[in-house]
Amino acid sequence: MADGRNGTPILCVGSVALDSVETPFGRAERVIGGSAVYFTAAASLFHAVQVVGVVGDDYPLAELDFLARRGADLSGIERRPGESFFWAGRYHFDLNSRDTLETKLGVFASFQPKIPPSFRAARFVFLGNIDPVLQHEVLDQVEAPDVVACDTMNYWIDGSRDALVDLLARVRILIINDEEIRQLAGEPNLPKAARWVQSRGPELVVVKKGEHGAMLLANDWLFFVPGFPLESVFDPTGAGDAFAGGFVGYLAQAGSLAPEALRRAMVYGSVMGSYSVEQFSVRRLIDLPVVDIERRMVQFREITAFETHVDAAPGR
Ligand code: AMP
Repeated sequence: MADGRNGTPILCVGSVALDSVETPFGRAERVIGGSAVYFTAAASLFHAVQVVGVVGDDYPLAELDFLARRGADLSGIERRPGESFFWAGRYHFDLNSRDTLETKLGVFASFQPKIPPSFRAARFVFLGNIDPVLQHEVLDQVEAPDVVACDTMNYWIDGSRDALVDLLARVRILIINDEEIRQLAGEPNLPKAARWVQSRGPELVVVKKGEHGAMLLANDWLFFVPGFPLESVFDPTGAGDAFAGGFVGYLAQAGSLAPEALRRAMVYGSVMGSYSVEQFSVRRLIDLPVVDIERRMVQFREITAFETHVDAAPGR
């Protein structure tokens, strides 16, 4: 994959939201969130990111300064008259399942992503969770991306299904949670659901399973990473996007989709997801030292490594 664009920033397009979140342990009102914000908060610790999105005139843009300080280019975030995208959710006691209480598209309803000319040469593109119709419009404007990774959500699987299924043909990595892939493929078995997705385009499918970790399915191999067994989980919102940020951020830094890079990216994804849930909103990711990321990588290795008594599976 080596070409002149090796160092180009990741192009990320997604929601830039205000979230009201309720968990059994507390609540946060109208805090910054959205797929693009969580993704960038994680990915910018690995690689430069250029962000495209839209906010209303109620958005506290200064709260995104920490991303700019890390080198993220936020000049593609438009500010329009009206209300920002708003999402409200309530988590159940196990913090693994949630109900969406409200989704207000606000300025998102009339959003037409405009990719600035200086963002169009990106090799890595992350299509965060937004209307698949807009995800298509983004891809129409980028020149020749090597790696298009895409996330989605039940809201769009229900509401914009045809555009989403068409989009799969333009995507190399689909990052999706277990409930959503079952819904998208109409198939309860995860490996079979991943095959269904692969038959429509993406060569790699990452299935996120909340606190139970994530699974990567390639054509003829797979890899599984657990969730980090945290003792205190505060707010699971955005864990999936922070996972995607660690995963794509590391791949862009490595400039490779080789199996060993993909395995490491899965663990970086799980590390970033685990940090993200330790505090409300993106708070935990604001000053996260890189050494803490590496320390948790080592802990992941310790909790998953083991020796077998034989070198190969019997019969090989
Ligand atoms: P996650 O917990 O990783 O699924 O991501 C939660 C984030 O997604 C929140 O910050 C929300 O603002 C954002 N979000 C929720 N619903 C939507 C939607 N329909 N489209 C785009 N972003 C959304």
